[in-house]
Amino acid sequence: MKDHADILVIGGGASGMAAAITAAEAGSQVILLEGKDRVGKKLLSTGNGRCNFSNDIMAADCYYDADPLFVETVLGKNCVVELLEWLKNMGIDSKLIDGRYYPRSEQASAILDALRIRMHGAGVQVMTGEKVIYLRKIHDQFEAQTNQIIYSAGKVILATGSKAAPQTGSDGTGYVLARQVGLAVKKPVPALTSLKLNESYCKSWAGVRCDGSITLLIDQKETAHDRGQLQLTSYGVSGIPAFQVSRFASRALENGKEVKAVLSFLPDKTIDETVDYLMDRKERIGEYRLSDYLLGLLPKNLAGVMIRLSGIDKQIKVCDLTQQQVNRFASLLTSLTVSVNGTGSFAQAQVCSGGVTLESLDPVTLECKEMPGLYIAGELMDVDGMCGGYNLQWAFSSGMRAGYAAASSSS
Ligand SMILES: Cc1cc2nc3c(=O)[nH]c(=O)nc-3n(C[C@H](O)[C@H](O)[C@H](O)COP(=O)(O)OP(=O)(O)OC[C@H]3O[C@@H](n4cnc5c(N)ncnc54)[C@H](O)[C@@H]3O)c2cc1C
Repeated sequence: MKDHADILVIGGGASGMAAAITAAEAGSQVILLEGKDRVGKKLLSTGNGRCNFSNDIMAADCYYDADPLFVETVLGKNCVVELLEWLKNMGIDSKLIDGRYYPRSEQASAILDALRIRMHGAGVQVMTGEKVIYLRKIHDQFEAQTNQIIYSAGKVILATGSKAAPQTGSDGTGYVLARQVGLAVKKPVPALTSLKLNESYCKSWAGVRCDGSITLLIDQKETAHDRGQLQLTSYGVSGIPAFQVSRFASRALENGKEVKAVLSFLPDKTIDETVDYLMDRKERIGEYRLSDYLLGLLPKNLAGVMIRLSGIDKQIKVCDLTQQQVNRFASLLTSLTVSVNGTGSFAQAQVCSGGVTLESLDPVTLECKEMPGLYIAGELMDVDGMCGGYNLQWAFSSGMRAGYAAASSSS
């Protein structure tokens, strides 16, 4: 059995839905194939269910590895305004919180509902439970085979996402389909995920949340830095600063490099300022036992780890600390060096670094240079953004671009 359309969109995530709506509104007959029983599963979990879809600061350098010119071309100069308007025309007003855009209702489900209504209105035929297992081009027609049926079309937009959060449907089969039609794929690794540390004391700090910073060292070279709330876990460190540097750690570990992280729990202070601060503290609370030296400065479990790592008898009085011992504490608090031996799994990652290489795509149309009629949208490409709405902006912008180009092309 066969079904035919002008354009097949494979994948019903943010990028696929944006592509389908744009192509259908430009006059094409569109079938969207979604492997799961419903579209937009990942979208629902974004921003903790609130959907942080864009950011006030939008620039090519918010996206990693990718050629900045490619990213700039795909996003265009006014991508944030365009997305806000596009969503507003679906009834979704937005709200800016700490530089991040959310729907006014702060419900990802509102955006998904609006996209579904808009797809319906534009005449997009949405086929759920249709996981594409094989993609090929025969003469000027593409064939996408699911377990039930072969769909054919003159154009295909591949928008299958990455391998991150496979429970939402993006299980990496998109890379398989891309390779089936001859596209080069850079090996995906988890990004926007936690760091696993090789330190036995992690169990003791589990559950602590505190202000801090992470500097990632790859083969001893400072490679990435971020600051914010650290979430210390039994296996390492999570929270946004860990997420932001994780892509570099994943890739370096994949390439067999040494990865270390330098953690600061007093990110406002230099080591010298910390020494002065701790000396002042020594004066003020000299009668305390060492076990209470960091009282009120760090969460208790973290303070306990620091005291233990200092190697100093915790029963001594604070006033008896030597200058060298105070220096040692300053170093522990501002530059605790830890070994990173892994990152969170694909299931725990928000996005992937890697994917369909950009060299094979025209940035204006997102059409594959060697395979006319095939377009790529969203996270399937080798583009990953920072945490903060950049990945959804990429998914929506690239989806709209691919949808428009596919509908406008005469081939
Ligand atoms: C927990 C979590 C929170 C996040 N929060 C944010 C956030 O707040 N802000 C932000 O910018 N980004 C966030 N992201 C990242 C963002 O969700 C993704 O970058 C974005 O959704 C990617 O969109 P996409 O359309 O390219 O892929 P996806 O949303 O993954 O959609 C791909 C779709 O294709 C379908 N599919 C896959 N293979 C096939 C196949 N063979 N046949 C048919 N269908 C197939 C999948 O089922 C899926 O529905 C978050 C991610 C996660 C996991």
